[in-house]
Amino acid sequence: MTVFAVGASTHAGKVRPTNQDNLLANDPMFVVADGMGGHRGGETASAIVADALAAAATVATVDDLIEEVQKANSQIVDRGELERELRGMGTTVTVLTDLHGPGPDRLGVANVGDSRLYRVTDGVLCQHTTDHSLVESLVRDGRLTRAEAAVHPQRNIITRALGIDERVLVDAWELVPVKGDRYLLCSDGLFNEVDEDEICGVLTSFGSAQEAADELVDRAVGAGGRDNISVVVVDIVDAEIGDAPPSDRVTATHLALDHSAPIVEPPSIDTHDSDVSELRSGGFGAESISAKTTGRLVLLVVAVFVVLAVLLAALAA
Ligand code: MN
Repeated sequence: MTVFAVGASTHAGKVRPTNQDNLLANDPMFVVADGMGGHRGGETASAIVADALAAAATVATVDDLIEEVQKANSQIVDRGELERELRGMGTTVTVLTDLHGPGPDRLGVANVGDSRLYRVTDGVLCQHTTDHSLVESLVRDGRLTRAEAAVHPQRNIITRALGIDERVLVDAWELVPVKGDRYLLCSDGLFNEVDEDEICGVLTSFGSAQEAADELVDRAVGAGGRDNISVVVVDIVDAEIGDAPPSDRVTATHLALDHSAPIVEPPSIDTHDSDVSELRSGGFGAESISAKTTGRLVLLVVAVFVVLAVLLAALAA
């Protein structure tokens, strides 16, 4: 059994009227969710996933963790269909938990969107999650540098979120817990205001997880606080010494690039750009629903014509 110490802090920031982030720090389930969508949509979506994972409490395998995220996604989609003013709401989610399954002790990580999981080991910061964002895909294609991406005006545009489609692509990992490691889950309101060197400095200079969490949020607010900020700091206080841990901690990766699943990445940067800006503001879900509805209507009209043609042919004969 891994023993954790945890600190958590969240703040609306200095610009946004509400805090649409939600976090969970219920040992051993640690979550940050950054909601989007007007009229209470964002805070509702992020609360649904935080509550769903709180209710799950523990999971045995990373597949179970992915399934819990899928269930939360369905709850958000269903709720958005029931309540008109919540339509199109979505949320990111980043989860770190202890897997209570058989075999060697493992941590489970799941991620959708652009909230992040970092780890600090021996004073070095490492990002475990990959952002599902426009700028990340431009970096991957070699069209932006990391430094350009960090200050890009469209860096808040995300390409995956819970609440948009029936199934969501979830990235997940299994990690080896190692005593002395410190993990950080955070929403983009932190790393868009505070650079990674400074984040690492705070994480390595504050002994208490709660003090480190409070300090990170204070610095993000002090640097402008243009977005909601959520931070969960998780220390590995003790872990069983099992099989020799790999230096990068990752023992299994479950990236959602399975060919049996639909790839939601839009075909070109241009459509991607406009569609997903609406996703961030909450309209993408409604857009994609209306596009689907239009598609279905066209199919229906075609089907009616085919049936009529067959009837006419039968009458003529
Ligand atoms: Mn945010």
